[in-house]
Amino acid sequence: MEVDTLRRNLLRWYRVHRRALPWRENPTPYRVWISEIMLQQTQAKTVIPYYGRFLERFPDVESLAEASERDVLELWSGLGYYSRARNLHRAAKRITEEHREFPGDLPTILALPGIGRYTAGAICSLAFNQVQPVVDGNVRRVITRLEGIQNGPPEELFWCRMSAWIPAKKPSAFNQAVMELGAMVCLPSHPLCSRCPVEELCKARKLGIQEKIPAARMKRAAQQTQVAILIIEVKRRILLTSHLKPAIVPGEWGLPCSRILRGESSIEAAEAQCRRVLGRNLPLLPCAKISHSITHHRITAYGFFWSGNLQTVRLRETDGYRWATPRECGRLLTSSLFHKALMECRKTVPG
Ligand code: SF4
Repeated sequence: MEVDTLRRNLLRWYRVHRRALPWRENPTPYRVWISEIMLQQTQAKTVIPYYGRFLERFPDVESLAEASERDVLELWSGLGYYSRARNLHRAAKRITEEHREFPGDLPTILALPGIGRYTAGAICSLAFNQVQPVVDGNVRRVITRLEGIQNGPPEELFWCRMSAWIPAKKPSAFNQAVMELGAMVCLPSHPLCSRCPVEELCKARKLGIQEKIPAARMKRAAQQTQVAILIIEVKRRILLTSHLKPAIVPGEWGLPCSRILRGESSIEAAEAQCRRVLGRNLPLLPCAKISHSITHHRITAYGFFWSGNLQTVRLRETDGYRWATPRECGRLLTSSLFHKALMECRKTVPG
């Protein structure tokens, strides 16, 4: 590999073609960190509005550390993978308690909750302009094609290549250039080789195998799950619980729900859940059937509605229950599964 040509061409291309993304303006460690965590498993166009709102509400690590976990999760609502938000919050607390400012060395950053090798490298490189390589899916694909690698190489090979290629001058721009090339030109199924600044160096292009490598990874088979959801309404308030089962549904608050066991019907599961929560049977009305995906789970959810008075039932927040107005439901429910259930229910049971 002609490393000087690779660096020169990539840096020149990046200067002209890079996307204007909000986290690229004023790349402080905090801003880079938030963006990198949000961008895990999530596309840039989805992240942009969340990033803006998050930075407006928590402009620095201190404001994030002082916030309640509930406030952080609320702003994360809809982005999914909620452990990312919890870890951000924990890490912000750790930074304010143990360091005077955002740490600037790789081992200390790596020790923070929710930060792995990629994110630590990205913070060091993008925010502190340190000569630290970063390897994500885009970088792996670009390296695989540039080098014409036809078997699945060990992960370490990608880190070695980036370590060897990253220049002492402009390490941040170089890392971003490789990632941007993977995101915009060296696309997974149809790479746009005629627009590529390093086409002349690319072995896969020379061999005509750029669309064949890297081989697509076998997708993990989706797990089918069925759940019964209770929508219990008293005086226009809906019952929420923090005892969320099954655990695959994320968020602090949710509608009472339970997995439908083998051989059990949806109404039997809903009635059993009703007895567990309220200690009695209620005449439940089927009101929704929703398909929803969470990571590799395909969920079919059956909603059951009941509205009336429950004078003798006491459900307290300290026991993990609360009655929420529709507005509070919008704020507290972080899984879109529950929002879909409420919406379907409103259509079936108007008023
Ligand atoms: Fe990717 Fe094509 Fe560029 Fe090679 S020439 S790096 S396959 S876009």
